Amino acid sequence: LALLIGVNFCTLMLTNNKLLSDLAKESQEKDAAMEKLKVTAEHDRLTGLLNRGALDAYLESLVGQSKESGRWLVSMVDIDNFKAINDTYGHEAGDLVLYRLASIFSSSIRKQDTVGRWGGDEFLFILKDVSSDEAADLVRRLHEHVALFDWSGALHLPGLKVCISSGYYLYNGNETKTEILRITDSNLYAAKQQGRNQWVGS
Ligand code: GH3
Ligand code: MG
Repeated sequence: LALLIGVNFCTLMLTNNKLLSDLAKESQEKDAAMEKLKVTAEHDRLTGLLNRGALDAYLESLVGQSKESGRWLVSMVDIDNFKAINDTYGHEAGDLVLYRLASIFSSSIRKQDTVGRWGGDEFLFILKDVSSDEAADLVRRLHEHVALFDWSGALHLPGLKVCISSGYYLYNGNETKTEILRITDSNLYAAKQQGRNQWVGS
């Protein structure tokens, strides 16, 4: 009888352990699937950068932080005459330009900075811990990286040139997210009005 009880007990324990390990595996798989969904929901499919929703949420969270968290800069960047690039080289070439630009932007920013695709041919940068002396220089450097890139050679598209315009704003701790975006947008508009391939800030 003791032997029988012992065997039953062992069988029960083994079944129990198997059940527990199955449950743990299932929960891990669920977590991984949720994480994958979250990444997909927050990123732009073409460029792999953060999408507008994720950028918007990040901006909102920064606006809510105290002024002591350091000054930060928002810059809206738009490709100059991008429609003409699509018209001349085709939509797929336009996609390649967006993809390559995203990679130039990602490798140009510092580790505390963020860049994402705002939509269409617009990108939004959020640069952390920026002083008023550094602001224009950081934006100018991004323009320099785009200007120095060998677009026609790298994309095998003879004569291709890519220029960008930027409108930026150094947050002073008082504006709402909507106001910040309105100011960057109006500075971007000014850059376009001034002949494109420019950066305008306030
Ligand atoms: P501007 O200098 O004033 O910005 O001129 P623009 O031609 O860049 O401006 P416009 O807004 O007229 O054109 C933007 C173009 O971007 C039009 C649209 O077809 C193109 N576009 C938007 N999203 C994509 C995309 O995902 N892929 C490609 N290839 N083109 C896109
Ligand atoms: Mg454009």
